[in-house]
Parts: sequence; structure tokens; C-alpha cells
Amino acid sequence: MPQMIINGRKTDAISGQMLDVISPVDGAVFTQIPRGGEADVDLAVKAARIAAEGPWKEFTALERGRILVKLSNLILENAEELSQLEARDTGKAISSARNDIQVMARYFEFYGTAADKVHGEVVPFLNGYGVQVIREPLGVTAHIIPWNYPAQMVGRSVAPALAMGNACVVKPAEDACLSVIRVAELGLEAGLPSGVFNVVTGLGEEAGAALSAHEDINFVTFTGSNEVGVLVQKAAAEHAVKCVLELGGKSAHVVFNDVNTKLAVPAIVKGILANAGQTCTAGSRLLIQRDIFNEFIDLVVDEFSKTRVGTPEMDLHCGPLINKSQFDRVNRYLEKGKKDGLKILAQGQIDPGVPETGYYVTPTLFVADNHDSDLLMQEIFGPVLVALAFDTEEQAVQLANITDYGLMAAVWSENGGIQQRVAKEMKCGQVYINGFGAGGGVELPFGGVKRSGHGREKGLVALEEMSTTKTIIHYHG
Ligand code: NAP
Ligand code: MG
Repeated sequence: MPQMIINGRKTDAISGQMLDVISPVDGAVFTQIPRGGEADVDLAVKAARIAAEGPWKEFTALERGRILVKLSNLILENAEELSQLEARDTGKAISSARNDIQVMARYFEFYGTAADKVHGEVVPFLNGYGVQVIREPLGVTAHIIPWNYPAQMVGRSVAPALAMGNACVVKPAEDACLSVIRVAELGLEAGLPSGVFNVVTGLGEEAGAALSAHEDINFVTFTGSNEVGVLVQKAAAEHAVKCVLELGGKSAHVVFNDVNTKLAVPAIVKGILANAGQTCTAGSRLLIQRDIFNEFIDLVVDEFSKTRVGTPEMDLHCGPLINKSQFDRVNRYLEKGKKDGLKILAQGQIDPGVPETGYYVTPTLFVADNHDSDLLMQEIFGPVLVALAFDTEEQAVQLANITDYGLMAAVWSENGGIQQRVAKEMKCGQVYINGFGAGGGVELPFGGVKRSGHGREKGLVALEEMSTTKTIIHYHG
């Protein structure tokens, strides 16, 4: 049975209570996890504090980095076990889970090798002064991560925090936390001192709320829904704790008349179907210039209709959705789309061999004649793509920026002027030109604007987010 990792030890909840973990593949209970609560969070934060200010502080940047690289190698050595765990827990296709584990390993490698490359500054100041700006860890960092990419998210969030010398307390989602527990175990094997990498499992409203409200954390990073993100930020604000929020999106593809269709069509279809649409950056809106609308959408329809949905072992384009509540939610959107008068242009197919009790939904491509529908304005978090025509570049920019979200966008055109102008006008954290999503994007600064959140992860910028500066002003005469 999976256990939490607190202060270097595998442990159950103090209350002794457990939670059932349900498989999205067939809706059946397949294991149990400890129902950690406030007291468990408190133990983990205390352990992290002691580690951050004790043994972990003695490690040089090089030594911290080497442990992270060792952890990366251990992840690769155990990649198949971790992939099977991730696929069973999330329901995603086994090849996607394998890719996620490679990306997780890459995070620990990237930040491990960067740990000793973070240098300070010397600032010219008044005569007789020497000024140094040095980087220091924040202390105890809290990481609340979602169920859609648990392995990638734990790598993305914990690796830079550890590289900078923080000690972490992670609260994974109750729906999918097995790979997170396993990587914390591997962290101990790699040589992380006790208390540096803690994992408390449990319910969001119990363990998650207790962690974000804990008075002795110094930073919290959260990825998930807007509603909970706001709660986390409010809880952190009570103790003036810095917060990074990544709250999802409603990313648009903007397709111009001169699009390279060979490049665009498969990338657009993959961009919504990856992880069954349960991706914050999912390209869920397809804006196409009117002159080519019919011919381009025909190509998308052909590609989209090939979509097959199945179990992780079937290894098809989409797996099931994570749980009953997401399944119901996405089905409600499908009904809403029909009620709003959107036309279904194409659908994928659920493999007849999947268990009837699993959470499989039919991937659906709609076309709309205006941008008013909820299906174009709200994050669905499922395999649902909506297409809409636009006339001018100006209108395309206005529509792409019309939602409350601002995470990612893509421009599809062969014209350098259009590429640059539109990319610069997009209100979001990342813009692809003639592409969409690539290789996990470990090296690429990432995050949102507007309701998609604030703060940045990935890339070297995460090392700044997860540390602070100290300015030492020395008068030497
Ligand atoms: P969620 O409730 O926001 O969950 C995200 C994380 O926050 C999980 O670890 C969750 O734990 C935890 N949490 C829940 N309530 C909390 C609280 N009061 N205080 C602190 N932490 C708390 O997301 P969800 O309900 O699973 O999914 C709903 C919607 O969120 C999706 O449809 C999607 O739109 C969005 N979402 C976005 C992303 C993304 O990548 N941006 C990822 C997931 C979901 P438990 O899961 O254990 O409750
Ligand atoms: Mg929940």
C-alpha cells in the first residue's frame, strides 16, 4: 500500500485513515492512500524546516546538483515501473506515461546541472563601497500539484526548489499521487537528507488547505483550478507568503490563409487530444481565416475522425478522463454545445473493448458561428475542440485574447510579419509559431497572464522564483 514520505520515512496518516483510489480505466478501487491532514502537514513542514536550516544548508550547490542528477538517473533506471504506475493512476496511454517519466527525469537533470550556475552580482555603488547580491533559498516550499501530469509536475516544481536549497512539502492530488510518492522514495536513495522532500497525501480541502495555510511555509506553488488557486493565494496571503499560480487556459490556434497545412493539422489535433484534453495548455479553440475555412476544416475533420479512445494498454490517442466528476463535467459541456446550436463536425471513437464503467468520453470537434458559447469561453478539460472563422488579422487577435485566460497560443502562417505581429499581440505566457507544445518544454519559461495565474516555472527563471536575493553592502572606505 502506498505511504506518505515525511522526514525521510514512509508513514501512514496520524489518524490512521485511508482513502480509496479509483482507477479511471474501470471506475474500480485499485489501492488506498493515507488520508493525511493538518497534523501530518505540520510534521512535514517541521521536518522540512529542520532540514532546510540544518543538514541541507551545508550542501554546496554542486553537491545539491549532483544529488538531483543522481535522482534523474534513478528515475530513468526505474522508468518502466514509474510509467506503469502513472498510466494506472491517471488512465493515460502507456506511451504518454513513458514520455512523462522521461520529462520528469529531464527536470531533475536540467535543474541539477543548473544548481551551481546561479551566480550573484557585484553592483557598482558609491566610492568606498562594495556591493554583492547573493541568491538564497526561500526556506520551506509548498507544492500543490494536480492529477493531470503528476510526474511532470513534481519534477517541474520540486527540482528547481531543491536546486536552490529549499526543502519541499508536496501535496499531490488524491486522484493520482503514486508516481509522486515513488520519486520521493528515489530521492532518498539518491542521497537527499531526511525532511528535504516530503509528500503528504490526502484531500485537497484537508491536507492541501492545511499546507497552504501553514504559518511556517515560505512559498507555495499551485497548479489546478481557478477556484482553488484563489483559496490558496488567500491562505498564503494570511502569512505574507509568496505564491505562484498556474490555473489553466483556453489556448487558441490562429490559422491564416497561408498556413502550412501538413505541419498544422496533425499538431492542432494532437494539441487537444493529448492527455484526453486534460492539459492546461490544450489548444481548445481553432480560429481559421474565412477564405480557407472550408478546405482547412475538412483536413482537420479527417484527422480528428481517426481518434481512438482506450485503456492505457491499448495505447491509443486518448485514455479515459480522471474521475467521475470530470467525466460528468465534460459530458455536460458536450450537451451544452448542442444546446447552444454548435454543429458537430467530427467525433472520435471509443474502442468497444474498454470497460463500461470507465470514464471514456467521445472526442468531439464543433464549429461555432460566434464566440459567445461557454464552449469557447471556459476551460473544458476534455477532448473538445471548437472551430470558428475570422476575417482579419485584427479580429483574430481580438478573438484569441477574448477569454479570461492567457496561457498559450499558436500562430500558423508562413508570413514573417504576421508571425511576429500576432505573437507579440497575444496576451499569454507562451506563443508557438508554426508548432504547438514540444518535448515537455523543460527549458522554456512558462506561466500565465490574466486568470491563468502569475509567476513562472520551467527554464532558468524558476530558479529565481524559488529563491530570493540578499544585498550585502560593505563600506570599506
Ligand atoms: P483542483 O481542485 O484545483 O485540484 C488541484 C490541486 O489542489 C489538487 O492537489 C487538489 O487536491 C488541491 N486542492 C483542492 N482543494 C484544495 C484546497 N481547498 N486547498 C488547497 N489545495 C486544494 O482541481 P480539480 O478539482 O481536480 O479539477 C477541476 C478543474 O481544475 C479542471 O476541470 C480544470 O479546469 C482545472 N485543472 C487545471 C489543471 C492545470 O493543469 N492547470 C490541472 C488540474 C485541474 P485533491 O485533488 O486531493 O482535492
Ligand atoms: Mg479534489
